[in-house]
Amino acid sequence: MIIDNIEIEFVKIKLTRPYTIAYKTTSSINNIFIKIILNNGIVGLGSSNVSKYVVGLDTKQSYENAINFKNELIGKNISYFLHNIDIIEKEFNKDPGSKAAYNIALYDAFCKSLNISLGSFLGRIIPELPTSITVGIKDINETIEEINEYYSSGFRYIKIKLGDKINYDIERIIKINEKFGSKIKIRIDANQGWSVDNTIKFFNKIKDVELIEQPISVDDTNKLLDLPEKIKEIIALDESLVNYGNAIKYSQKNYGKIFNIKLMKCGGITSGRKIANIALLNNIDLMWGCNDESIISISAALNTALSFSNTKYLDLDGSLDLAKDLVSGGFNLKNGVMKPLNKPGLGVELI
Ligand SMILES: [Mg+2]
Repeated sequence: MIIDNIEIEFVKIKLTRPYTIAYKTTSSINNIFIKIILNNGIVGLGSSNVSKYVVGLDTKQSYENAINFKNELIGKNISYFLHNIDIIEKEFNKDPGSKAAYNIALYDAFCKSLNISLGSFLGRIIPELPTSITVGIKDINETIEEINEYYSSGFRYIKIKLGDKINYDIERIIKINEKFGSKIKIRIDANQGWSVDNTIKFFNKIKDVELIEQPISVDDTNKLLDLPEKIKEIIALDESLVNYGNAIKYSQKNYGKIFNIKLMKCGGITSGRKIANIALLNNIDLMWGCNDESIISISAALNTALSFSNTKYLDLDGSLDLAKDLVSGGFNLKNGVMKPLNKPGLGVELI
């Protein structure tokens, strides 16, 4: 089966629930969609939405790079899977947006050409996992209201964005714990907003959080080495851990025992798996995160996550607040638990 045509779209999508984190407020996003069309009519789908703040280029630049490249893949045989993947890995070494969208579309097309699911191709070893759902920076009453809403929908893992003001951050979590107690598990994302001292202060006041993501600035990542070991057990590297090079560096010493892998940082399934394998070799647990993304790339992340034994945390709520998407399906979400559909490729359907 030959790659006959490639269609690439740039789509602006509104969010149904705009949100604020330590360094920005988001109300709409840009997404690239790539369709790899085979000569027998099979269509492989890929998508991406990168954060310039994290990876150094935005989705518009990725879109332009993807457009300029597409003729290079047309005419290739889809069966030469690893060869095609290698072409993308090399070409888009510095552009995780184009790399992720092409990479995911190649996986989808290849699996569909064999009539197997992505989960079976990658070797799923975890059937399903709960995802956290995120509450942005809000006042205490609004936070509790939003958690109540998620709790009623079945979610039990709540990620709270902090990093604004440490004392208020602590107060927010104390109030949430008073209100919900052990009914929910709390994950924290400070998005680089704290210092090492703030992190220790927070930990000493609030012991019952499941993990703390990226407490301090990327530029100060080395300072994580100074944290007490018991805190590092629950530190997840996010903005500090973008690509494979970072993964090699941060697995040599204990900067934090959790890696947050996002296909939108590293550039797709292949790069995500490389980081996951480095973590596995070094007894580092995995959290799989996302940007605001299509069901296409969320399903790709979910299937990759469930093929690693060190995957402990899913944070794949990124498609839930999109006002529109190009596809449906991919996974079932019931009471906050995500389970991929057993259909060919990503298991998504164009709407
Ligand atoms: Mg984060």
